Parts: sequence; structure tokens; C-alpha cells
Amino acid sequence: MSTVSSTDIKILILDDDQQVGQAIERMALTAGYEAHFTDTPHEFFERLDTWHPEFIVLDLIMPTMDGVEVIAELSNRACQAKVIISSGADQRVLEAALRSAQGHGLTIQGLLSKPFSRDDLGRLLQNATSDLSQIALDSERENRQLENSQIHMQDLAAAIKNSDIYVVVQPKIYCSDSSLAGFEALARWEHPTAGFVSPEHFVRLAEKHNLINELTWLVMNKSVEWLAELPQTVTEEPGLEGLTTRLRNISLSINISAKSLDHPTLFADFAAICVAKGVELHRIYLELTETHAMENPLASLDTLTRLRMKGFNLSIDDFGTGYSSMKQLVRLPFSEIKVDKSFVMSALESDESRNITQSIVELGNSLQLTTTAEGIEDDETLHFLKSNQCTLAQGYRISKPLPLANVSEWIISRARQYERKRLAELEALEIFGTPEEERFDRHTKMACQLFDVPYAAISLVGEHTLWFKSHSGFCLNGIDRKDSFCSHAITQRGAFIVPDTLQSVDFKDNAFVVGEPNMRFYAGYPLRGPHGNVVGTLCMVDTKPRTLSDKMIRRLQSLAHLVEHELSAGSSNNMDKLTGVLNFHGFDNTSQQALALANQLNLPTLKLSIRVSNLDAINQEQGYDVGNQALLKMANILQETLRRSDVVGRYTGATFHVLLFDNIDGHGLEVISRLKARLELHNAHSDAYALHCHIQVLHRPGEASSFSERELLSEKNRYLGMLC
Ligand code: C2E
Ligand code: MG
Ligand code: MG
Repeated sequence: MSTVSSTDIKILILDDDQQVGQAIERMALTAGYEAHFTDTPHEFFERLDTWHPEFIVLDLIMPTMDGVEVIAELSNRACQAKVIISSGADQRVLEAALRSAQGHGLTIQGLLSKPFSRDDLGRLLQNATSDLSQIALDSERENRQLENSQIHMQDLAAAIKNSDIYVVVQPKIYCSDSSLAGFEALARWEHPTAGFVSPEHFVRLAEKHNLINELTWLVMNKSVEWLAELPQTVTEEPGLEGLTTRLRNISLSINISAKSLDHPTLFADFAAICVAKGVELHRIYLELTETHAMENPLASLDTLTRLRMKGFNLSIDDFGTGYSSMKQLVRLPFSEIKVDKSFVMSALESDESRNITQSIVELGNSLQLTTTAEGIEDDETLHFLKSNQCTLAQGYRISKPLPLANVSEWIISRARQYERKRLAELEALEIFGTPEEERFDRHTKMACQLFDVPYAAISLVGEHTLWFKSHSGFCLNGIDRKDSFCSHAITQRGAFIVPDTLQSVDFKDNAFVVGEPNMRFYAGYPLRGPHGNVVGTLCMVDTKPRTLSDKMIRRLQSLAHLVEHELSAGSSNNMDKLTGVLNFHGFDNTSQQALALANQLNLPTLKLSIRVSNLDAINQEQGYDVGNQALLKMANILQETLRRSDVVGRYTGATFHVLLFDNIDGHGLEVISRLKARLELHNAHSDAYALHCHIQVLHRPGEASSFSERELLSEKNRYLGMLC
């Protein structure tokens, strides 16, 4: 390959503004390029024919002939020079011109919006030099590709037959926490003489010569075999327990040509090898490009529906490049939508690409599809997609497509990285190894009630051991991480369920299964800290085998979200320093979440406001210290009286708010009776101060009914009526 220096590069500039044109010319000459400026299209085209510049800097808006006409003329002349479009026009016009130029087959080096700085131009020209080396490389490759067109279908047929076509896989990660979602299988072919052949090229060749089903079958076979064996290629090291469990759940995407859709047995055979290898069909995503899927929407609807019914997931690839209507998209049974990489790759520079990307993600999310962006090449784009709620990311920033042999190493190194982040988040929460707290007990208690299990806990998974921040039922505190079920659960995206431990290869010999407490059932839901890393689980155990319905799994998820909320609310600014119960914000946040859950579970709730009515008197007669003691006492009495699943907070100075959760069988009335008895007990024994309360039942805003403690109890029936 020949090297290129900047003096070999000729730049022709067309601009109706002499000052601007000459400035560009000077800048280019100073930088060591050959440059020529003209302000008339006539001279411009003459120069173009005789001088053969490598680059053209073109003003878009000129009085005698506008840039768009120049572009059309350049295209007529089959101009090979790279074009830099310069203009004071707004970005949309520039982008439209850019599309027009690309549509005319011109190569665009970049856009220069006026006013531009010396640096802007410098950067484009700088890129130009390095790009020229790339051009030399590309043209070598293009030449090869041209030779490729000499590649005969017999070569391809032989390559398929001899399994010379191989598979590489590109990872897909969750935007929210960068954890691994799965891989896309991509076909590769090194031709013995022509070298690398682009998949787009040989896939087209295969489609043309009826070889596509053989090619697809090869990719299906090789990739699913690899996926099935992947967990065994990863040896678990301390800190990465559960990784193999995770790898048994990741997805595999396979590109399908529309031409294969009506093949009578391809998918049935593929389903059979998946089942034989223990790969569940919902882990497989069949990717169809938008244009392919829409070629014959009616036929697609039938075939695709059948594939979904078989159990495969379906993905619409390169979305945004075709012409599908929303109606078609809604009708076809896709599970994933992939934003075409051309939009994603330019999302940061182009308003239009950014808007298209955002709209596709929004559309996908609103249809409850998994949204995936491919072509992510930098952190900024990844961040942009994350903040737009895109589900998955794929692109060179995460990883280029990997040879199968290199995947385990890549997975392990990322898992180690994630584990460090996870432990840092756990440490920042400052709750590992600290005593149990009432605010967490509420949730474990509720888990036992809701799921009717003897044991529920909030586990925190530390570097070596587990810490149970709260538990209900028997306790397994301090167990080694490697023996724990929770270390597996934390690698999952959703619930991790072992319906019968004795039937599980991973757990049948576990110490807590064969010995006390003889666990037969485990369900754990990963808990995320405020920064999105998993710190532990909300888990439940039973001593008999069980299954959880989808509805119950959703309940577990809701309860886990409540715990997560508590984890992030746990910082001291949600707690009332004086009394140790929640403060105004803490109560509002927590009770809102709890009410949402109660609605979802159809559980009645009751909100009470309890005011220490004699606090002012205590403050005035005995001083603020005693007043503070009275408030602390009141908080303690409330905590003793309420169930652990109820929420309590000091709302304002003398007023506490209480949310009675799971208000079954008149729990509210019972609480008030107990509270009364407890206050009477205090008042009978305390020499320091008596506590008098005013209780109000808070319904929806505007529906408050007020009772004094005495009235409330004497109006028992009316109160009960209000509870309903
Ligand atoms: P695709 O299915 O949309 O695959 C994504 C393509 O984007 C891959 O190109 C991948 O290498 C590339 N890519 C991913 N991230 C980035 C990035 O950050 N920057 C850039 N510049 N590119 C990125 P590849 O492997 O060249 O495949 C091209 C197309 O060929 C695929 O597009 C797919 O339509 C087709 N193809 C590949 N393998 C197969 C196959 O086994 N069967 C069928 N029918 N088509 C295949
Ligand atoms: Mg694809
Ligand atoms: Mg694609």
C-alpha cells in the first residue's frame, strides 16, 4: 500500500463569498495541501476535469447555481472526490443536502457549518489525511470486493458444504446496568484467494443462488451448539458464583433471510436441535430486516405468528431504513425492535438521527417491545440511549464481533469488572454487617404473609459472605457466598426460582438442602442499589417444593421494588433524627410505594394521623428536652404497637402518620385499641409526663374524618364502617 502525504492532496473550493473561499484556501495551503479557490461554477467544473482534486469544499447556497445543482452535476460526472459541504444554512438544510449528495452516490467527508473556526476546518482536513490512508486501504478492499463478484456461487456452495463459513458473535448488553443480555451470531467467510468477503455480499449471493437455507442452517447449528456449551467454558471463581447460571439464560440472535421464511422444515429442525441441546426457544431471537419483513406483510404475519407460537422470539432488524407503518409493526408479532445503526452512529451529530432514534425507542417501548440500538461506538451514545430508556445496546463500544473461542475470556473480564462496581455500591450503602432494621422487617414480614412461606429475607451479598439485613422465620446469617442460592439470584435480571432443590443439578447437594433447614424451594429477586447495581436479594424459602405463578412473580417483583426504594431512601435524610422513624419525605415516599403495591395486590390500607395533643403543654411546662423525650417515647410506642409491615413516620412536629398495610380483619381498630392500652399503661406509670393523642383517619385528600381517641373507640361501629 502506498503512503499518502498531505502535499499529494488537492482541494478544490467553490464559494461565492471571496473572503471565505480565500480563507479556506489559505488554511489548506498552510496545512501543506494543494488548494485552489474559485467563486464561479463554470471555472469550478473546468478545474475539476483537468486537476482531479481529491477533495471538494462546496458552498451550499450561491446566487448563480446552488449547491444542490452542483451536487447533481458532480454526480452526472461520476465525481470520485470527497465532498465537504460548507454553508450558513441551518442544520436541517445541511443534512438534507448531505442525504441528497449521498443519494447521488457522492462521498461526503463532512459538514462545515458557517461560521466555522480554523479548528473545525483543520479537523476535517486532518481527518482527510488519515482517511486517505484509509481510502487506500478501502480501495484495496473494494478491489477485492470487486474480485469477490468474481467469486462464484460454486465457491460459496463449497464453503458452506465444508463448513468454511464460520460464526462470530457480538454481545448485547442492558443499557441500564451494562450487564450481558446475549449475543448476535454473524456469519464470516475468508475466501482462500480473495480474503475477507463481507457478509452482506455473500448473503446476497446465497439468496440469489438458493443457498441461503444451507447458510442459515450452518449458522444456526454452529451458534446454538456454542451457546449450549458456553456455561461449561466458564470456570467460576470466587466472586463470580452464579455466572454459569446466568449464561444459561442469555439470548442468541440469528439473522434470517425472508427467503427462508417459507422453508417447510428449517425452523422445526432448528427447534429440535435447540431442545436437544437444552436451549429454550424463548432464548432465540430470529432477526428479520425491516424491508424483508414488510415485503409481503400478510405472508409474514402467518409465518411469523407460527414461529412465535413455536416459542422463538422475533426481532425486526435495521428498523428505520424501510417503510413499515405503525399499523404493520403492531400487527406483526415482534418481540424486539432494533434501531438501524446508521441513526445510532450519527445520533450525537445529527438532530435528525437523534430524533429518529428517540422516536423508534419510544415507539418500541410503547408497544412493550425490547428496544435495541446497534452501532454504539462511544460512551456518549450509550449514555444517550440509556437516558432514553432503550433496553439493549450493541456496538463496537461494547465489543466488536468476537471469535467464539474468545467469548469466555471477554465474559469473565466483564463479570470481574461488574463485581467490583457491585461491591462498591454495596459498601456505599453502609448497611452490610449492620443490625436488622424495622424499615426492612416490614418487607420480609409481608413476604411471609403474601407468599405463605416460613422464611423470607433481605440478603446482602458481600465479597465472601452473605449478610441478612432482615429475616423472618429461621435465619441463615453469615453463610459462605459459594454455598448460597442468593449468589445465583444476583446474576439474574428477574426472579430466580428453584421450584424443587432436589431436582436441581446445581443445588441438590447443597448443605442447606441436604441438612438443616432442608430447603426445597427458593425464590430470590435481585435488589438494586440507587446506582443500579445489584447488592442482594429479597428471597423466600420453603421446606416443601413449590411453583410461583406469573402473578406471584409480579408480586415478588413489586415487593422487591419496595425494598429497593427503602435501600435508596435509607440515607439519613429520610429519617427523623429525633425519633428514628421516617421523616416527612421518607414517609411520603415509602407510603406512596406501599399504596401502589397495595392497589396492585388488592389489599385494603388505612392511613392514620396521630397527634400528641399535649406536646405544647409539655414543652412549656417541662422544657424542650422533656418534649423531645415524649416524642421519642411516642415513636417507640407506635413501633411496638404496629405490625412490622406497617409504615410509620413523624410528619410534622407533634404529628405522626401511620399507614396500616394489609388491613384485614379490622387490623386498624385492633391497632387503635392496642395503642390506647399502651398509652394508658405509660400514663399510669410515668411520673415525668403523660401522653395524650388525637387520632384522625385519613382517607383520600378532602375526606378526612376527625375523632378524639375516646370518640373513636366509642364510635366503634361507625369507625368500622369507615374502614370498608
Ligand atoms: P445486522 O444483522 O444488522 O448486523 C449488525 C452489523 O453491524 C454487523 O455487521 C456488525 O458487525 C455491525 N456493527 C455492530 N456494531 C457496530 C458498530 O458499532 N459500528 C459499526 N460500524 N458496525 C457495527 P456484519 O457482521 O458486517 O453484518 C452485516 C449484515 O450481514 C448483518 O447486519 C446481517 O444483515 C447480515 N448477516 C450477517 N450474518 C448473517 C447470517 O448469518 N444470515 C443472514 N441472513 N444475514 C447475515
Ligand atoms: Mg441482525
Ligand atoms: Mg442491524
